[in-house]
Amino acid sequence: DVITAADLENLAVLGHGNGGTVYKVRHKTTLVTYALKVIHSNADATTRRRALSEISILRRATDSPHVVGFHGSFEKPSGDLAIVMEYMDGGSLETALADGTFSEERLKVVARDILEGLASLHERHITHRDIKPANILLDSKGEIKIADFGVSKLMCRTLEACNSYVGTCAYMSPERFDPEAHGGNYNGFAADIWSFGLTLFELYVGHFPFLEAGQRPDWATLMCAICYGDPPSLPESASPKFRSFIESCLKKESQDRWTAAQLLTHPFVSKDPETH
Ligand code: ATP
Ligand code: MG
Repeated sequence: DVITAADLENLAVLGHGNGGTVYKVRHKTTLVTYALKVIHSNADATTRRRALSEISILRRATDSPHVVGFHGSFEKPSGDLAIVMEYMDGGSLETALADGTFSEERLKVVARDILEGLASLHERHITHRDIKPANILLDSKGEIKIADFGVSKLMCRTLEACNSYVGTCAYMSPERFDPEAHGGNYNGFAADIWSFGLTLFELYVGHFPFLEAGQRPDWATLMCAICYGDPPSLPESASPKFRSFIESCLKKESQDRWTAAQLLTHPFVSKDPETH
């Protein structure tokens, strides 16, 4: 059934993001708790466009068990835009990290869940583009889900290409339909894997990989380190399997980086006993 503003009552504020506020709400008749992201009517055009894009991407991705559930969207009479999401009651990986770093055993599970989410997004030609600890949510059942699709992008340009192509689009080559999926210069899928690798690294060491613990980022230095330096490497305490897994994510050249589907077969996360 379609959920409207009148069906919901506010319980609490869960967080503030760029241009929006996320509330904990309850459905008055079903008593189900949801997270409601509200973009105010006076938000700037970019914020509004991002919210509309987030809605269309969530709708496409919602059947994946490791993507936050989507339960509809509506516009209030005031002009506020609202997105109804599954409520994740366990905070994010960023808040979890505040309680202490993650063991390899725990990271194995976290890595596999995020990868399954990423693999299903990438299969649907969606790049997340903002993978980081704060955007991976947890719940008390132990579920781990990818959230925050505000800057995500649908890479498949089939319809757009067909509509703009002068002539018969039936003769267009595959890479013209979807350059990113066929080795285009910018590979958004591989970019998600890089961010995923840094996220796991951070959960293991407790701070952003390119910085010392507690060091404040100086963006120019950081950018140089990322672009011109070697990829960060894990401390001695890390097992060879974990080390190899992180190396496969943090290849400097995007074409050398493993895909989400490949990483799911890596011995660090693989459920297949043969590879252990
Ligand atoms: P930013 O761009 O600053 O990260 P945003 O406006 O894109 O923020 P989100 O990251 O989607 O918004 O959400 C902001 C915060 O609200 C999250 O960090 C999280 O604490 C909380 N939140 C978002 N979605 C949910 C959810 N489904 N369940 C529980 N909490 C949520
Ligand atoms: Mg966010």
